[in-house]
Amino acid sequence: MAIFDTKKVIDFLSEKWGNRDCQMCGKGPWEVQDKAFQLMEFHQGNLVVGGPLIPVIPVTCTNCGNTVLVNAIISGAIKPETEAQGRKE
Ligand SMILES: [Zn+2]
Repeated sequence: MAIFDTKKVIDFLSEKWGNRDCQMCGKGPWEVQDKAFQLMEFHQGNLVVGGPLIPVIPVTCTNCGNTVLVNAIISGAIKPETEAQGRKE
């Protein structure tokens, strides 16, 4: 579980995306999840402990449900050290 400041992500996206609406429905607004999730490398359905993980934050269009996964480290939500600690657990 990663706790982070959602406002930080919103500020980051405001700077990078501007006021861009959803690219699928052209509306919005966007909603930033307050939890980070992770993408794991696929190994024929087997769980690989210690494999590479990509932490992401789902940003969802509240109008059509289109969901964009934003990298949690690049967006500044979590620090790379936090991710490393998570791998050991
Ligand atoms: Zn949409």
